[in-house]
Amino acid sequence: MPSLLLSLQFKALLLHAFGLFVSSSFGAHPLPTNLSPSPFANLTTDYGRIIFNYPTEALQPKSPQDISQLLKSISSSPTHNNVTVAPRGAGHSTYGQAQALDGTVINIRSLTPYIQIGEVQLVASENSTVYVDAGGGVLWIEVLNETLKHGLAPRSWTDYLHLTVGGTLSNAGISGQAYKYGPQIANVMELDVVTGKGDIVTCSEKENSELFYGALGGLGQFGIITRARIVLEPAPQRVKWTRIPYDDFNQFTADEEQLINLGDVNYLEGFISFKDNNSSDVYYTLEFAIYYNNECDAQKTLDQVLSQLNSSRSIASITDVSYFDFLNRVSAEEQSLRRNGLWEVPHPWLNLFVPRDQIRRFKDLLLQTILGSNTSVAGPIIVYPTLKDKWNQNMSAVLPQAKENIFYVASVLRSAPPSCTPGSPCLESFLNQNQKIIEVATAKPTTNKTMAMVDATSRKTKTPMSHPRAEDEGGMGAKQYLPYYKDQNGWKLHFGEKWGRFEELKSRFDPLNILAPGQRIFQRKP
Ligand code: FAD
Repeated sequence: MPSLLLSLQFKALLLHAFGLFVSSSFGAHPLPTNLSPSPFANLTTDYGRIIFNYPTEALQPKSPQDISQLLKSISSSPTHNNVTVAPRGAGHSTYGQAQALDGTVINIRSLTPYIQIGEVQLVASENSTVYVDAGGGVLWIEVLNETLKHGLAPRSWTDYLHLTVGGTLSNAGISGQAYKYGPQIANVMELDVVTGKGDIVTCSEKENSELFYGALGGLGQFGIITRARIVLEPAPQRVKWTRIPYDDFNQFTADEEQLINLGDVNYLEGFISFKDNNSSDVYYTLEFAIYYNNECDAQKTLDQVLSQLNSSRSIASITDVSYFDFLNRVSAEEQSLRRNGLWEVPHPWLNLFVPRDQIRRFKDLLLQTILGSNTSVAGPIIVYPTLKDKWNQNMSAVLPQAKENIFYVASVLRSAPPSCTPGSPCLESFLNQNQKIIEVATAKPTTNKTMAMVDATSRKTKTPMSHPRAEDEGGMGAKQYLPYYKDQNGWKLHFGEKWGRFEELKSRFDPLNILAPGQRIFQRKP
């Protein structure tokens, strides 16, 4: 009773102090079907529409100081030993990562928008780097619109641009440009972060570097990103956007890798599609883009690239579009899905980074699993190679341990029918398929040593064992991207040798485990 009373007093104090809160009487209950519009309606869900957690409060900060004040109050108040705080960007996570059950959600979008272009001289060099300082709650489409006014743009993107700067930098931010420039987290020069203790810290490779590397790909665990300094390049005007279909997976991936080796295209992705919905007739599409200002030069590059691929040039479909339309290409799909009531549906998504030598096996596992079920295959399946050495391994983002520099991004972005509500057998079926794929794909690959032991055992016991080959059996050593685990054990395996450092950074920057509870990595400490 006293703690409840104190709790209410504390909330009243915060409300009074900031005048920025909206408060709710909802608790942890299933989503009522008659949920009326309220300031909380969109904070209890996300793009996934699979997990619904009710916060008790929402903060609409105007400045990093508002966030700092909240976190300082919470961490110093003995009566608030169970309050958690989730930063929420655009809420485009799929498994509740930006939610806080019975906690506080901070709407990062409400920070006063800030986009400012600048230039720094590099030490011991005549060159300078042009950058944009963008607020953590700013959308990438807003960054693009603003920087284009100056003929500039960031180099590394996500496919969809209505995501916040802080949200994608807390994961990695990847698309077809990453093979050339690395993910978005590899294109950041400096951050402002409000730590779980409420300290406002500026960090970079040189200054407070542990927080800088920790926060990039850090899943919101160490602090809230309120500003990022992002490298810019001169923006091209137009794009030759090319698509080539393949029937053969080996030729398709060989050409994807050939494009990486050539390094001439500015963007490279690939897709697996079905000739008819739910049919096992599969084809593959290679997609690449050449940016340009001079049509003649672009045509020469395109001809040269096409001449070095397995496929015949005659089947390539080439579209000429503006740079803006190319980067914003998913928007048209969004509008069409919205019109048909197919945007706000459950999204049981699966994203993995797969070692190069396992990609064919992964494709077989994926197709067997999803085609062996009765569930819909609606939604893109993306498969493209990218390069490990464009990532900074000091950052929190996790990559496969395999030695090869090339690894594949595999994204199974399925939409469930609107009737597949949480808890329904239909949604469970999607999630079970994902789980089956995750279990095989993320398990450690069988080593030669293990195989020798299997052989020796079979000889000793005279068991008539078939002889699995290392590359055909066992795990694949893949890592989840935008991972979802139910408990800490899953996370420990995910981080592998990075776990110790991740845990240590958490104890330094958010010792009470207040931040980003929706990731389910750490339990709030009293
Ligand atoms: P939210 O969902 O709001 O938050 C994500 C996580 O980050 C949460 O844990 C949250 O607490 C934390 N967080 C949010 N803001 C901050 C902050 N300022 N500081 C610290 N932590 C914070 N990803 C790619 O890499 N490439 C793609 O091409 C791509 N395409 C997508 C297309 C669509 C249609 C969708 C829905 C998602 C796509 N994503 C892609 C995934 C997307 O990058 C992540 O889901 C990202 O987290 C979304 O950003 P957000 O602003 O919605 O973050």
